[in-house]
Amino acid sequence: MELKEKISKTFEERFGTEGTFYASAGRINLIGEHTDYNGGFVFPGAIDKVIMAEIKANGTDTVRVFSIDINDYAEFGLNEEDAPEQSWARYIFGVCRETIKRGGTVKGFDAVFAGNVPLGAGLSSSAALESCFAFAVNDMFNDNSIDKFELARIGQSTEHNYCGVNCGIMDQFASVFGRKDHLMRLDCRSMEYEYFPFKPEGYTLVLVDSVVKHELADSPYNKRRASCERVAKRLGLDTLRDATMEMLDAVKSDITAEDYFRAKFVIEEKQRVLDVCEALNAGDYDTVGRCMYATHNGLSKDYEVSCEELDFLNDLARECGVTGSRIMGGGFGGCTINLVKNELLDSFLAKARTEFKAKYGHEPKVYEVIISDGARKLE
Ligand code: ADP
Ligand code: MG
Repeated sequence: MELKEKISKTFEERFGTEGTFYASAGRINLIGEHTDYNGGFVFPGAIDKVIMAEIKANGTDTVRVFSIDINDYAEFGLNEEDAPEQSWARYIFGVCRETIKRGGTVKGFDAVFAGNVPLGAGLSSSAALESCFAFAVNDMFNDNSIDKFELARIGQSTEHNYCGVNCGIMDQFASVFGRKDHLMRLDCRSMEYEYFPFKPEGYTLVLVDSVVKHELADSPYNKRRASCERVAKRLGLDTLRDATMEMLDAVKSDITAEDYFRAKFVIEEKQRVLDVCEALNAGDYDTVGRCMYATHNGLSKDYEVSCEELDFLNDLARECGVTGSRIMGGGFGGCTINLVKNELLDSFLAKARTEFKAKYGHEPKVYEVIISDGARKLE
């Protein structure tokens, strides 16, 4: 059954009426990895996988919400002490609370929601959920007076304060601002953003999920951050944003080899995002693809956040003639994002499935994505 139909039927059964439909999307990031905390650029887009909700104000101070996918119901008030137990409901409660904390209005409502963003696959189902409800609450109770960036921040603060996830702004930004056939270059220092056309005719964007997640003992993320901060400091900068390879090479003998290669990746990655944007303006997908491979190589060799499974998938993509392929996300597991000519798609995916399974004992999961609109009201 279609998502909307399924939600509508359940809403009618539970609440005996009809509400308004809202949706928001998961996201991909084409390029710009580990750049956010270095004041660089990210380049995400919303995808055609969404969380959709039917919602109606109920004239009380209580929120009543049913999750179709989890088959669970939650009911909560709107004060801080009313936080629900269920982790999925805390995303919605958090959005309500963060809206109220910012001076916005939230009243009781009834809601039914469901989605098709795979959970925990790196496509940010949680940001889709937050943005869907943040957009809805803004539309229903605040005359859309809360600006879109604030909606993204409401989602981010929800993760920080109600879900225990200390995330950046990219996922919620992409989910709120997403536009069909466009990627968005977000400057993580100034928070300025710009849309770039992304309509790769003749290509498919496909994620290959290794379904592995290596838990590493020594907090590699914090160590990478510390390396970047050390080098920035040595260069007299706040972040590596304004660093160049010339500047880095000038201090090479004063810093550790490890710090050198971490900073080298960050400096090169910043430039690659800019190069990809320029290539997209020219419709040059070959250059986009080359940059994706270069990012993978840097993440693997210089930043050292890849793993065997992801390097295997990347090598396989190259062998199959895939235009671009790289790790998407923080690393040590998760997905590769691949830009594949349509005529090669079936053979690439077949080979990825069989060869990955032969080596690692399970098939990867595959998600084709189309760059689509973000948070919205459905007519
Ligand atoms: P992701 O990388 O997909 O964002 P997270 O762990 O951050 O993974 O968020 C996943 C959580 O978001 C789920 O555990 C659940 O609480 C909530 N969630 C996401 N999608 C749905 C859904 N379709 N229905 C109910 N809850 C969902
Ligand atoms: Mg998440």
